[in-house]
Amino acid sequence: MSTLGILSAEEQFIVRTVRDFVDREVKPVVRELEHSDTYPEALIGRMKQLGIFGLAVPGEYGGTSVSMPCYVLITEELARGWMSLAGAMGGHTVVATLLLRFGTQAQKRRYLPRMATGEIRATMALTEPGGGSDLQAIRTVAGKDADGYLVNGAKTWITNSRRSQLIALLCKTDPDASPAHRGISVLLAEHGPGLTVSRDLPKLGYKGVESCEVSFDDYRAPADAILGGVEGKGFAQIMKGLETGRLQVAARALGVGRAALEDALAYAQERESFGKPIWQHQSIGNYLADMATSLTAARQLTLYAAREAQAGRRVDMEAGMAKLFASETAMQIVLNAVRIHGGYGYSTEFDVERYFRDAPLMIVGEGTNEIQRNVIARQLVKRGGLDV
Ligand SMILES: Cc1cc2nc3c(=O)[nH]c(=O)nc-3n(C[C@H](O)[C@H](O)[C@H](O)COP(=O)(O)OP(=O)(O)OC[C@H]3O[C@@H](n4cnc5c(N)ncnc54)[C@H](O)[C@@H]3O)c2cc1C
Repeated sequence: MSTLGILSAEEQFIVRTVRDFVDREVKPVVRELEHSDTYPEALIGRMKQLGIFGLAVPGEYGGTSVSMPCYVLITEELARGWMSLAGAMGGHTVVATLLLRFGTQAQKRRYLPRMATGEIRATMALTEPGGGSDLQAIRTVAGKDADGYLVNGAKTWITNSRRSQLIALLCKTDPDASPAHRGISVLLAEHGPGLTVSRDLPKLGYKGVESCEVSFDDYRAPADAILGGVEGKGFAQIMKGLETGRLQVAARALGVGRAALEDALAYAQERESFGKPIWQHQSIGNYLADMATSLTAARQLTLYAAREAQAGRRVDMEAGMAKLFASETAMQIVLNAVRIHGGYGYSTEFDVERYFRDAPLMIVGEGTNEIQRNVIARQLVKRGGLDV
C-alpha cells in the first residue's frame, strides 16, 4: 500500500492535486526564485486558490479542514517542491488551530473565514533577541489599562511577519507572576502604529519568504485581543500549538529529504564511472539504500504522531520524536545527495545545494532538537516509559 492509502479517497485527491501543482508549477521556477530571493507571489496566489491556507479551518468558517496525516503529507509535497512554500503556510495553520481550540467566538468569526481563503495570513511571534528556547523568559510586555493593552518589546526571526495581517504574539501580561508561565498570554496583534517590522534577516536558506525583527513600541491592542479572552493561559496554548508546528516541521524535513533522494536516485542511474552507472558502485548503492530506509522510517514516525494527534491525544513527545528524527534524517540525506552528485552537488545549477541549505532550519525551528530531546526525556519519565 502506498503511503497515501491511509487517507480517504477525498484526501488522497487533495494530496495528489498538491503533488501535481508542485511538479507542474513549482519545480520549473523554484531555482530562479530561490537564487534571486524573490517572494513567490504567484505561487502563494495558487496556494490560496488550492485552499492550502484553509486546511486547518473547518467548513463552517469557509475552510476545508483535513486530517492531521493528510496535512502532514500535503506539507511534505510542498516542501518537496520548495521548503519555503511549506513554511509560508506553517505558522498560519498553527495560528488557525490555536484560534479554533482556544479562541472566543468573536475571535473565530473575526479571523477564521478570511484565514481560510488566505486573505488574512497569520504568523507566530515567540522568539526574542534574548532567546527562543526559554520562552518563559520572554520580555515583551502587554500592560492593561483603561484603553486595552499597551505593548512594548521586540521579537526576532518572525517568518512571514511583513505579509501576515495577524501576529499571534507571545507576551507577558503579568511580568511578576510566579511561576513565570502563569503571566504569559497570546495577544492577537494586527499591524498598526507602534508595530514595526524592522529588518529582514539574511539567511542561509529558506529564501523567498521573509524572517524579520519585529518591534512593539507603545503598540495598542484592544482589551479583547487576548486569545480566549483570559490572561495567563498563553504558555499552555502555545505549547499545544507547537505540537502541530513540530509535526509540520517534521513534514517539511520529509519533503526536503524526499526531493534529495529523488534527485540522487535519478542522477545515480544517469551518471557513469568506470563503465557503469554509479549506483552500481556499492558505496553509492549503500547511500541510496540508507537514504530510502531512514526516510521511510521518518515518514512512518511522523504519520504515527499525526494519527495520535488526530485521535485527540497529547502528542508533545510524539511530535518531538518526529521532528527530531525527520530533521536529523533530512540532514544526513541531503549530505549524501551532495556526495552522490560529486562536484555537481556543489553547483548552484543543481537543486541539491538548496536542499543542503534548507535542511538545517528543521533542526532549529519550532524548538531546537536539543529542546525536543528535553521534552521527550521529561515525558518518558512522566509517562513511565514508552506505551507499547
Ligand atoms: C529561518 C528561521 C525562521 C524562524 N521563524 C520563526 C518564527 O516565525 N517565529 C518564531 O517565534 N521564531 C522563529 N524562529 C526562531 C527559532 O524558533 C529559534 O531560533 C529557536 O527556537 C532557537 O532559539 P534561539 O535561536 O534563541 O537559540 P537559543 O535558545 O539561544 O539556543 C542556543 C543553543 O542552546 C541550546 N539550548 C538552549 N537551551 C537549552 C536547554 N535547556 N537544553 C539543551 N540545549 C539548550 C539550543 O538547542 C541551541 O543549540 C526562526 C528561526 C529561523 C532560523
